[in-house]
Amino acid sequence: MVSLPDSVAVITGAASGMGKAMAHEFADEGASVVVVDVDEDGAAAVATEIADGGGDAMAVYGDVTDTDSVESVVEESVEEFGTIDILCNNAGILDDFTPAGEASDDLWNAVIDVNLNGPFHMTRAALPVLQEGNEEGVVINTASIAGKVAGGGGAAYTTSKHGLIGFTKQLSHDYGPDIRANAVCPGAVATGMTEDMIEDLEAMTEGTPAGRYAKPEEIARVVRYLASDEASFVHGTAVNVDGGWLVD
Ligand code: NAD
Repeated sequence: MVSLPDSVAVITGAASGMGKAMAHEFADEGASVVVVDVDEDGAAAVATEIADGGGDAMAVYGDVTDTDSVESVVEESVEEFGTIDILCNNAGILDDFTPAGEASDDLWNAVIDVNLNGPFHMTRAALPVLQEGNEEGVVINTASIAGKVAGGGGAAYTTSKHGLIGFTKQLSHDYGPDIRANAVCPGAVATGMTEDMIEDLEAMTEGTPAGRYAKPEEIARVVRYLASDEASFVHGTAVNVDGGWLVD
């Protein structure tokens, strides 16, 4: 099992939002964190914040749509920290709720490339390292309630997140018990992705049991739990962290 204080966690999309919160959450537990993002300055700022707080972090440029780039992320992580125990496939982009009939090929391909091909590329590159040694490797994919129902995004986003939950299940099926793969399904969260739609988030969450949108830390805490020994029997599931949005 992975002991968080001794672990190495690679987190994609960690310059902002939930990935940034995950980076802090893991570092606070004593993990060494690789902060991966296409936003180099943002990633560097997060790594500096963690280091200033006494934690251990390294920023690495990584574009999850680029197979060479993800290979470099794995190489640099192993070079610096010796291994990878936990991979959080978190980078993602939204599609402005565009229905299929209005979606261009460029929009469709961009969303599928980051949200679905990205976790595939990153996981495939990291699997040999995640499987090394006696401890299990952990993969946590940031899906969405849009991975379970329609309406949480447009056609491409919803398809990408449904696919990501399927990918998570298949990873568990193919690689358990060596790899413990799970997904989280956030509802509405205030992050870089949603900063221009805070009023929409308020309206969307008004009638939900929580009655509000989430802070990124509220999702990151569940990801930290899923990565820990506490979740040793949790394999291949997609955990809603949605303030009860999907109860009805
Ligand atoms: P965010 O925009 O704050 O963070 C996403 C990060 O991903 C950014 O730092 C961005 O630079 C990075 N990124 C984008 N493309 C990349 C690429 N090709 N390679 C590497 N990094 C890349 O958004 P967030 O809300 O924190 O999103 C994190 C995840 O949560 C995403 O997968 C998103 O789909 C999912 N999600 C978000 C919400 C929400 O309400 N915010 C809800 C459900 C799921």
